[in-house]
Amino acid sequence: MKNNNKTMMQYFEWYLPNNCNLWQKIINVAPYLKKMGITSVWLPPAFKGASGINDTGYGVYDLYDLGEFNQKGTIRTKYGTKDEYIAAIRALQLEDIQVLADIVLNHRMGADKKQNILAYKINPDNRNEIIGDLKEISAWTKYEFEGRNNKYSDFKLDWSHFTSIDYDDISKENGIFRFYGKQFSNEVDKERGNFDYLMGCDIDFNNLDMVDDINFWGNWFLKQTNVDGFRLDAIKHIRSSFYKRWLSNLKSKFNKELFTVGEYYSGNIDSLINYLDYNDEVNSLFDVPLHLHFKEASESFGHYDMTKIFEDTLVDRRPSKSVTFVDNHDTEPGQSLESWIKDWFKPLAYSMIMLREKGIPCIFYGDYYGIPEKNFAPMKEFLDILLLVRKNLAYGKQNDYLDNSNIIGWTREGDYYHQDSGLAVILSDAEGGSKQMNVGKNLANTVLYDCTGNVKETIYVDNDGNAIFYVNGGSVSIWIKKDNMYNL
Ligand code: CA
Repeated sequence: MKNNNKTMMQYFEWYLPNNCNLWQKIINVAPYLKKMGITSVWLPPAFKGASGINDTGYGVYDLYDLGEFNQKGTIRTKYGTKDEYIAAIRALQLEDIQVLADIVLNHRMGADKKQNILAYKINPDNRNEIIGDLKEISAWTKYEFEGRNNKYSDFKLDWSHFTSIDYDDISKENGIFRFYGKQFSNEVDKERGNFDYLMGCDIDFNNLDMVDDINFWGNWFLKQTNVDGFRLDAIKHIRSSFYKRWLSNLKSKFNKELFTVGEYYSGNIDSLINYLDYNDEVNSLFDVPLHLHFKEASESFGHYDMTKIFEDTLVDRRPSKSVTFVDNHDTEPGQSLESWIKDWFKPLAYSMIMLREKGIPCIFYGDYYGIPEKNFAPMKEFLDILLLVRKNLAYGKQNDYLDNSNIIGWTREGDYYHQDSGLAVILSDAEGGSKQMNVGKNLANTVLYDCTGNVKETIYVDNDGNAIFYVNGGSVSIWIKKDNMYNL
């Protein structure tokens, strides 16, 4: 059967201007994305955030306001109105592109009123430790959503729906203040003792009213938007059994697969595997360990042991649940998880996620179009080549040559269903060189060329599929059939 490769795209970056009209842009670009082989698009959170029109959506204020109500000084969000959001989803789906909605349930921000609450101050480095007497604080915890006027839901939030907050308006003190009678969930990441608290008003997933509302909201959201799946924000800070139930319920109720990828930001592969096992693999995860390997290699300038680049990554240990990526909105310079991959290494990293057999790769908007705010140039020209190679040629059996600390490579033997398919990739984090590899029978007795343009010479593959492939220093070469039907 003809199975085409899946490719995800994260269609936003952190520093988009608030007049970016992203939903409109998506409507226009959807046919092009289809043509380039994008099969799913991750859209940014569509909710009204605390900073109104400047909010990326991660500072979520009202989950029921997708750019429809005059709240936080604006009807539309940074990306557009609710109607435009729905239209963007439809435009992508018309092209058979799946839409993943970004779901932010860990916290709320931008409360309407303060409440006086008894609270303990918590040690930020060990969240299991109380570091002050019980005292009264004034906290921004009351959410009334007046601009929405009870449409869709009359549920309001107050301190009882949260575990903790980061600011006391009496002492004007920052810190973590856990409310009297509240506990952090023990089903969260163990970093800093207990990583339930991340930011803002931390949602209490042990509060039944709160969980009921989130369940109700999930149904509402799916009915309103008809998205095909989700990207879950900050799941290592959320009681892990919550999403298992929430997703399973929605999957069966709507009778949809609802492909979902969670952001569990940890370089510890065992934490990721434990999460997947604990939740019966109800969702996939971003391959953070692989991203961190890319970062280390990109900063080692030739001294990284490339034979270990995939070791203890998710795509190695649990490939069927791995969404691989190079960078994202959080890893951009100046952001919370800053871990930006250096320019010279990005083509190597993208080749390692896009041209191999396992994992679903996710292309980042900020890499594709560039990031004007940071003067980062677009990689569109290079990534377009990779996209088309992935879509048309990266098929068939994979042969690995991950056997040298500097120069590694692999081949794909091609398959019957994709004409002229098969390829060889060779890359080096240090000096240039060569490697003999076998590309299989499909490409035997053909001439190959490096479609990146890095190496100009052509290569002849012998009768057994063997050839010697070349790469320049600190770069990647991708060898495909010359004069192939795709005119790459
Ligand atoms: Ca939490």
